[in-house]
Amino acid sequence: MPGKKAERRALLQGLLQEQKRRLWNELRQELFGNNSEQLHNQFDYAMDVAEQGLLDMLADTELKVADIHREELTRMEEAERKFQAGSYGVCEECGTEISEARLAVAPFAPCCVSCQALREKSIYPPQAKY
Ligand SMILES: [Zn+2]
Repeated sequence: MPGKKAERRALLQGLLQEQKRRLWNELRQELFGNNSEQLHNQFDYAMDVAEQGLLDMLADTELKVADIHREELTRMEEAERKFQAGSYGVCEECGTEISEARLAVAPFAPCCVSCQALREKSIYPPQAKY
């Protein structure tokens, strides 16, 4: 179906942008919570350079609060990198496209539902049976 791939790509991009906005909003809220003018200014500056690399910027700002979201931001960067490479939303295990509904609730999901289930099984093997 023509345009189907572009359609999905646009949808996934929107999904990632939404996720990124949410992360930044959370960070901003925590900074406001600190009620520090200096942090506020630093963060405004941070917003401008956000596209140049979230983690580099966060390292520079030395914001303790950033640690809270470091893992999420790392995954965000990873997801964006994958998106640029065209491999975002593709299952790491079996290579099928992860459903958009799944990505909507789990934007950083590395694999599809069935592979996820298999992974969890191998981490937590079922009792007995073998
Ligand atoms: Zn899979």
